[in-house]
Amino acid sequence: MDVAAERIDRLEALARAATKAGEEGRAREYVRLARRIAERNRLSLPKSFKRSTCGACDVYLIPGNNARIRLRNGHVVVTCSCGTHARYPYDE
Ligand SMILES: [Zn+2]
Repeated sequence: MDVAAERIDRLEALARAATKAGEEGRAREYVRLARRIAERNRLSLPKSFKRSTCGACDVYLIPGNNARIRLRNGHVVVTCSCGTHARYPYDE
C-alpha cells in the first residue's frame, strides 16, 4: 500500500470515529481531504469508503446513526440524513 492509500485509510477511520463522536462537521473534513488525496494521486477510493460516504454532503455514514439501510430487489439502498439515496448491488 502506498503512502496516499494509507492516508486515505487513516482518514476513513478518523471520519468514522468523528461521526460516532457526533462530530459530523469534522468527519466531512476528513472525507473531503481523502477525496482530494485520491484525486491528486489518481487513486480510486476503496469500496468501503465510497459506500460509507454521502456523495451530496460528504458526511460519513453509519447505519443507525445518520444513515438508513434498506435491501431492495437485490440492491442496498442507503439513505443519508440529508435525504440523498445511494444504491449499490448487494454482493457482500
Ligand atoms: Zn448526505
